[in-house]
Amino acid sequence: MALNLFNTLTRRIEPFAPMDAQERRVGMYCCGPTVHDFAHIGNFKTFVLADLVRRYLEFKGYQVNHVMNVTDVEDKIIRRVRESGTTLQEFTRRYESAFFEDHRALNCLAPTSTPRATEFIGDIVALIERLQARKLAYVAADGSVYFSIDKYRGCGCRYGQLLNLNFDQMRPGERVANDEYGKEAIADFALWKARVPEDGDVFWPSPWGEGRPGWHIECSAMSMKLLGPSFDLHLGGEDLIFPHHEDEIAQSEGAGLQANGMPFVRHWVHAAFLLVEGKKMSKSLGNFFTLRDLLEKGFVGREIRYLLLSARYRESFNFTLEGLQSARVALARLDECLGKLRDRAAGASAGVVDATLLQGVTEALDDDLNVSQAWGTIFEWVRDQNRKISEGGMTPAEAANASAAFEKVLGIFGLEATGAAEAPDAVRALAEARQAARKARDFRQADVLRDELKALGWVVEDTAKGPKLKRL
Ligand code: AMP
Ligand code: ZN
Repeated sequence: MALNLFNTLTRRIEPFAPMDAQERRVGMYCCGPTVHDFAHIGNFKTFVLADLVRRYLEFKGYQVNHVMNVTDVEDKIIRRVRESGTTLQEFTRRYESAFFEDHRALNCLAPTSTPRATEFIGDIVALIERLQARKLAYVAADGSVYFSIDKYRGCGCRYGQLLNLNFDQMRPGERVANDEYGKEAIADFALWKARVPEDGDVFWPSPWGEGRPGWHIECSAMSMKLLGPSFDLHLGGEDLIFPHHEDEIAQSEGAGLQANGMPFVRHWVHAAFLLVEGKKMSKSLGNFFTLRDLLEKGFVGREIRYLLLSARYRESFNFTLEGLQSARVALARLDECLGKLRDRAAGASAGVVDATLLQGVTEALDDDLNVSQAWGTIFEWVRDQNRKISEGGMTPAEAANASAAFEKVLGIFGLEATGAAEAPDAVRALAEARQAARKARDFRQADVLRDELKALGWVVEDTAKGPKLKRL
């Protein structure tokens, strides 16, 4: 069966059908991080969704060209560069590498390409020139270039494809210079921003004078350059629907590079927010956890990934540390079953992979990535396997088939068991301190440290080969 996905463009669940169905190639773009700070795990809810979509399409035999840009120049970044007294590159590269480190810690596959906006200035300028030649962009008195929504609509194009907009609120010719604005401020938006003193050294030459690109045009230029003027899938968090994605459509379709009747993007997928006590997890509300915060508390990337994949992507849910504890327990149950299946298989090779589990899971995921149903199926199956093993009713060959199916399913979720869970740095440091205390015969301190480890979910076993860290 096909993967059925909700499409923000049509407000319907639709079978996902790539343009290049014959070659089974998929072009997928996910708006990447704005590298002005460490990403929080709300951001990663969206990136983990993109990774799940990619893994699932690959499981279905598609070849996914996955592009995730790095926004390394926009309003917030410039403000932070100014405050930090560093250069744009020095500032953004630090957060960019932290982002990719976190992305890997969450077991997200490396995208096919990760273009930086600052390396596509030529393409951005060419796209704005094209919009200008088509009379959809105009130069303001200060040398900034704006997109004219009125002219765009006048050509029969639709502004407001992803959500319904009330144009009565719009006064033609009014402009918005900021990258971020609400739908009550529908106005011509900036494609190119003329250099101002606050920009410091952040500027490039252009036909309109020195300046820098607006945020929205960056994504239109990079996506069309790397995936072509029409591609299959575009993802992001729900806050990007307006204005970012609406503006991307306007710029890209306004440039008119698509073949007749083809849209810029066929299928738009948006992740609902990760919340904290009912509010969007965000930098501005200060209610966020970075991945690093949670690793320091002794959690591992796999547990956080599991939590982020425990609810369907279109549902918001509250992040809590208790939820993360439950993720740990759930993963331990999965790992225990897999361990038992592997032991029972005892080297027998898998013949036909057990189809029941895979069938149940694909049925659930084909239904707009219904992960809740998929997890229900998986845990029920795990219970059955545990029972069969304990009743002695499973042959090694059956166990090998079952564990092969189980590993495949865990691979779709990017939650493959890594064997002995790797202890995070904070946990290893505690274990080393405990070992030092024992050596110094300070058993009281050693016990305190053992309890601290326990609170983080780890035990130290003193083996003949020295202390060994194990998950509780
Ligand atoms: P940014 O780095 O701010 O451009 O955001 C990167 C991605 O994270 C975008 O797709 C946002 O829509 C998404 N995002 C931001 N906050 C949240 C949240 N609380 N839950 C889910 N996605 C989010
Ligand atoms: Zn974008």
